[in-house]
Amino acid sequence: MKIAVAREIEVCERRVALIPDTVARLVKQGLEVWVEAGAGERAFFSDAAYEAAGATIIADNSKLWGEADILLKVSPPQEREDGRSEIDLLKAGSVLISFLNPLGNPVVAKRLAERQVSAVAMEMIPRTTRAQSMDALSSQASIAGYKAVLIATAALPKYFPMLTTAAGTIAPAKVFIMGAGVAGLQAIATARRLGSVVEAFDIRPAVKEEVQSLGAKFVEVKLDEETTTSGGYAKEISEASKQRTQEVVAQHIKNADVVITTAQVPGKKAPLLVTQEMVAQMKPGSVIVDIAAEQGGNCACTDPGKDIVWNGITIIGPINLPSSMPVHASQLYAKNLTSLMQLLIKDKAVHLDFADDIIDAACITHAGEIRSSRIKEALQ
Ligand code: NAD
Repeated sequence: MKIAVAREIEVCERRVALIPDTVARLVKQGLEVWVEAGAGERAFFSDAAYEAAGATIIADNSKLWGEADILLKVSPPQEREDGRSEIDLLKAGSVLISFLNPLGNPVVAKRLAERQVSAVAMEMIPRTTRAQSMDALSSQASIAGYKAVLIATAALPKYFPMLTTAAGTIAPAKVFIMGAGVAGLQAIATARRLGSVVEAFDIRPAVKEEVQSLGAKFVEVKLDEETTTSGGYAKEISEASKQRTQEVVAQHIKNADVVITTAQVPGKKAPLLVTQEMVAQMKPGSVIVDIAAEQGGNCACTDPGKDIVWNGITIIGPINLPSSMPVHASQLYAKNLTSLMQLLIKDKAVHLDFADDIIDAACITHAGEIRSSRIKEALQ
């Protein structure tokens, strides 16, 4: 059985699905690993390092895709320069494991099903304790939260920490984090480590304790509706609740030097949390970093992939932040994939046991069918 690591052709994607260390572990288990030539280059892992770990380097991209039993990737399959889709290169009956954005772009799932590929979407790994080591959404979101703060520090025309100097005292920067999921909590921790005063807001009241344990103040908004799904995710809230939260957060946005927005609702466009009127109220020189830019943005002024200055406020809408730290992002993602493969591989062969809740949830296509009702709905 061949496990293959593809070279990412998406322009903004610097991560690689396996790093040499994880290859060595798989090879030790008697598995054959192929790595496409140059796959790790943009994450600083050389072909020589993969070879030393026991991988076979394959220069012929069609051979790698066409003969792999398990194809590992980071970004969803792309259209190639020659006009063919990467999906068309896959062998019928093979397994593709990757981020696939199945709810945002369900057509990919449809085409993978038609290609008779068993596709495992990393976004669909359940957020349970047993699946924690496979949870790539979390490993990558944490990087995004960390990097967002560093981007803000670089753009802010001020210090983050409080400083007492011979030339006077500098007050600490005020940072307001909106959305306290995995990315938001890491952003809080990073902003606190840099010495700023941090406030955070989320519509899920359950995060209050986590926010406080990181040394930040939780901005509470009492709403008359349930804001959390049974799975622990945020729900889309009513117009009345949106208005209520906007009234409360407006003052905190106005007082902040830095606002970092991370709010998402799975399968939906990111909620609008910062209106243009709120941005207009901020102090000149303040900075907004909108991690949700790719999903439509939490700020009305966000232009995905761009840094803009509006009314003296810098609004940054970064795309694919984990890819900007490709060494550790790849290391953590590779660990997520190898943990998942321990479940999928029995006696050196793929064994998709749909009685296992993780495989059942994450395997979105099999035997020519889309297995997830949510993806089928998204296709309509
Ligand atoms: P996410 O990326 O889906 O959303 C980010 C945050 O935005 C969430 O905290 C959400 O509540 C918040 N949000 C959504 N709408 C909002 C709004 N209108 N205003 C303010 N905030 C809003 O979240 P995530 O980081 O993927 O985490 C989702 C859930 O999964 C959380 O409950 C988290 O604790 C849980 N989780 C569990 C595990 C585990 O048990 N293994 C691992 C990771 C995450």
